[in-house]
Amino acid sequence: MERLFTPGLIYKLIKYTDSSAVALAFTRDFGKLKLFMPKAYTKKSGIMTLVPGEIDFLKKDNSDLNKLYGFRHDPAFMGFVEEPAVSLRLNLVFDVFDSIYETEQKEPVLWTMITRFNKENASSALIYTFYAMLKNSGLMFDCGFCSACGKETRGGGALAGGLYYCRDCAPDVSLKIGCGEDLILRALGRPELYKNLKISGAQEEGVLDILICHTESAAGRKLKSYGAFKALIASL
Ligand SMILES: [Zn+2]
Repeated sequence: MERLFTPGLIYKLIKYTDSSAVALAFTRDFGKLKLFMPKAYTKKSGIMTLVPGEIDFLKKDNSDLNKLYGFRHDPAFMGFVEEPAVSLRLNLVFDVFDSIYETEQKEPVLWTMITRFNKENASSALIYTFYAMLKNSGLMFDCGFCSACGKETRGGGALAGGLYYCRDCAPDVSLKIGCGEDLILRALGRPELYKNLKISGAQEEGVLDILICHTESAAGRKLKSYGAFKALIASL
């Protein structure tokens, strides 16, 4: 057992007893961690979820349930709490993260991406973060070229069984993808192109619908928070 410190954030608290909880955390150095919090509901603990900071914990050798000693919010990120355009999207990011990542699975870039979220870039940052999580987990489909005939999918594409098709080769049962969403999906593999794209609210929703649908079939479970996310984002 070893006492360790790492940059990280707590994305979910699950009540365990009246006073204790299990915190689910994403950390820069260890990926996903489960942390037991003996006094989770005292005023002193006062943990806000989805705010980056520093996690102080005891790493157990014989269990995946570690012990949280303390969490210090980084004041530079307190704005995440007050900005629903950011906090709603981070909530979705970590719902996806929780469904596709294993405990302590290596994740090299997610920390950098979430600490760069702000109100102005929130739509494009969300899509890119989602794409990077799928890619780093080996779940992202190849977009840009049809997996059946090899043609570029400029006129729009379709997704079925984790493969991307052009409109001509798309199986009958597939998720049809319009030109605008196809363009964004193709740009994701080329960061110099992607960073110059302006993504509207409707395009963000269109791309998220595709990525969520794909994630649900890969993870074998529904992402229940997505319906609420869409309703809340629309109300901003
Ligand atoms: Zn084709």
